Amino acid sequence: MLDRPTPNDLRAFWMPFTANRQFKSAPRMLVAASGMHYTTSDGRQILDGTAGLWCCNAGHARPLITEAIQKQVTELDYAPAFQMGHPKAFELANRLVDMAPDGMDHAFFTNSGSESVETALKIAIAYHRALGNGTRTRLIGRERGYHGVNFGGISVGGIVNNRRHFGAMLAGVDHLPHTHLPENQWSRGQPEHGAYLADDLERMVALHGADTIAAVIVEPVAGSTGVLIPPKGYLQRLREITRKHGILLIFDEVITGFGRLGSPFAAQHFDVMPDMITCAKGLTNGVIPMGAVLTTADIHDAFMQGPENLIELFHGYTYSGSPIASAAGLATLETYKQDDLFARAHDLARYWEDAVHSLKGHRHVIDTRNMGLIGAVELEPIAGAPTKRAFNAFLQAYEKGILIRTTGDIIALSPPLIIEKSHIDQLIGTLAEVLDTLE
Ligand code: PMP
Repeated sequence: MLDRPTPNDLRAFWMPFTANRQFKSAPRMLVAASGMHYTTSDGRQILDGTAGLWCCNAGHARPLITEAIQKQVTELDYAPAFQMGHPKAFELANRLVDMAPDGMDHAFFTNSGSESVETALKIAIAYHRALGNGTRTRLIGRERGYHGVNFGGISVGGIVNNRRHFGAMLAGVDHLPHTHLPENQWSRGQPEHGAYLADDLERMVALHGADTIAAVIVEPVAGSTGVLIPPKGYLQRLREITRKHGILLIFDEVITGFGRLGSPFAAQHFDVMPDMITCAKGLTNGVIPMGAVLTTADIHDAFMQGPENLIELFHGYTYSGSPIASAAGLATLETYKQDDLFARAHDLARYWEDAVHSLKGHRHVIDTRNMGLIGAVELEPIAGAPTKRAFNAFLQAYEKGILIRTTGDIIALSPPLIIEKSHIDQLIGTLAEVLDTLE
């Protein structure tokens, strides 16, 4: 199975977000990982330029995390998430809100980014209802936004392919325009133009009435549609308008959480305080599925009314705050702290920025952009065959020993925060070679 899987070995697994037929004709199998590298089934080392899928922020096989999981599974393997608790989930919630922006006081646990989004949207609607504002049910997302794959998430999300095959979406959803403007090409860090795009929310308020709108959800930095960096002043403007109209602001920090921009959360980096933060991925370094929704005390307390023996929020998952995920989360946060990884990301960001923008001038490159330890390289699409050029770059990069991610004709880079300058040189140098030989 390892070296040369036969079609029979590969027959049953319907792979997620993967071109199954292409993969099964030429499988790319990863069998081990340590630090900055994956090992393939044919024994090659692949430099991880994507932190797995934006999740292994501390790199791979971190001993503290591995040992915490091993210990937990022998001690308390599972505890019901229904009228019962166990200490580690409480401890993790406290640790999380302590590192979150001031005012984020409570954590609700989920198993993924998608579930965190569904949870936050439901909390938003139920919060208004708890305050007697039952008409506030409308949700507003953004074009090119990605909020996971469940029905709430694809409804507020703005990616055509995520929506068009799946029938009716959630009713009462609108989308703000995306912030990717041609005049911002080659921006280093936050682009100059586009703060005014937040004003579109005023148009929606005028159209529907503020008293019908529950929440706006945006990714501070949109990742999955090719790294869209918020223009200067845009998030501040969105905060002002939502606050003015009593609309909740949700930051989907599934990729920006846990140090990607050099702060624990993007909210701190941009100094904009939302009402809720959704997170996942880096919460457990990608090792065990886990997500969370962080909320203000105002939101939480609105539910803490009524008789004491009633369940306040009728929502949760069998594995919400499971012992093993909680142990992994605690060990992950400890690893970030011990290695001072968020400060490291901050310190490396300038070197990273120069490296990413050094790809300007290489073949096919029509834009480069960056923020924290995120980079994007946009390629000129092949006429009549969108996505093909970037996908070919991904295949060739893998052959040359680097893992990159592509979305459309955009290459997205998001390495583990333990990356060394020599790795950055290798990643960007190899990518430059790939681009220059690409058809
Ligand atoms: N929101 C954002 C911003 C994401 O980037 C992702 C995953 N890339 C999700 C939600 C969904 O997370 P998951 O795949 O864990 O459900």
